[in-house]
Amino acid sequence: MYHEAMSQTELDRTAVEIFREYLRIPSVQPDIDYDECVAFLIKQAKSLDLPIKVYHVHPKKPIVVLTWVGTQPTKSSILLNSHMDVVPVFEDKWTHPPFSAHMDEQGNIYARGSQDMKSVGIQYLEAIRRLKLKGRRCQRTIHVSFVPDEEIGGVLGMKAFVHTADFKALNVGFALDESAPSPFEEFFMYYGERSMWHVEIKCAGNPGHGSIMLDNTAGEKLRVVIDRFMDFRASEKAKLTDLIDSAKLGTAGSVTSVNLTKIWGGVQSNVIPTDLSVVFDIRLAPSVDHEEFEATIKRWCEEAGPGVTYSFEQKNPQIEDTKLDDSNTFWTAFKKTCDEIGVKLIICICMGSTDNRFVREVGIPAFGFSPINRTPVLLHDNDEHLNKDIFLKGIQMYTKIIPSVANV
Ligand SMILES: [Zn+2]
Repeated sequence: MYHEAMSQTELDRTAVEIFREYLRIPSVQPDIDYDECVAFLIKQAKSLDLPIKVYHVHPKKPIVVLTWVGTQPTKSSILLNSHMDVVPVFEDKWTHPPFSAHMDEQGNIYARGSQDMKSVGIQYLEAIRRLKLKGRRCQRTIHVSFVPDEEIGGVLGMKAFVHTADFKALNVGFALDESAPSPFEEFFMYYGERSMWHVEIKCAGNPGHGSIMLDNTAGEKLRVVIDRFMDFRASEKAKLTDLIDSAKLGTAGSVTSVNLTKIWGGVQSNVIPTDLSVVFDIRLAPSVDHEEFEATIKRWCEEAGPGVTYSFEQKNPQIEDTKLDDSNTFWTAFKKTCDEIGVKLIICICMGSTDNRFVREVGIPAFGFSPINRTPVLLHDNDEHLNKDIFLKGIQMYTKIIPSVANV
């Protein structure tokens, strides 16, 4: 299987080529055919001499798991997760075609998914290849999972998978998934996520002629609703005194964000409408009590007047953060190793959401960590790229981090 004499240079070259091969598979939303990803991963499993399983919780939504059995397989396992899908592209805005994985003279590899997060999936595998070549084994079994549809909410992917008997049989004790690239020397590490709510407020009132100053109109009520939400937004925004600072400190995920995203109503410019509606996208910080916050929304509606009602398009539950204290031995091992290899962490709450929320929801401690620093943040953006040296450094980091958590 392995060439004893495979040099570091050869290993690095192979890793970069495998990464680029994966990037060339256009697993782009929507309506992805994952067959090519599955075939690619089966090939990787063969070359790594690892067993592989493909689960189908839903048809055409494969969940691929490569397994490196530990020396103490009765201990709970480590899950190294990544998603196979990527977000759409505006191809004409790219310097190099987004599924060509073009590498320029500086070693920058251009492709959709180079940061988010095909890199991480290959880095897990290449770290395992290096550990195996050195004859290393870990106590805990390691499962490397590749899941579909994270970019559209994971409903038919990780969200469903964590509730299956197949997932329970993996006996996961700790999981790693993505964070975000960092333009700094430090790396982002997420131990929790905000909860997303999409709330629609409908303001009903007296209709009539546009020339009459009626009482009890939808517009007057809508104004109060918008004021309440926007005043709250301003108070949260004020907590982020310096936006650059807050990016570096990772504090942005610790406040609740509010944005007005949709507004509609009315039939004609000279007719006072019977109702006007507005939608707010809210990301609740983990410290916010959900019941209390809903009571606040209810109160704001009452203050706006009669006939003002709210409903949820989305209302994600409160999920407990992963603990960062001595009770979580995976954390102490992870942190110790990062300190030893000089990996400085920005430890924070994820501003958006990842598949880790589903893993935490079933009680498994999970961190978001992408080993990408000194890189412009271009996830979901044009010209997403990753430098090959940063990619290779990430593999080295995982050769330390993976054994440390798998030997807890
Ligand atoms: Zn991602």
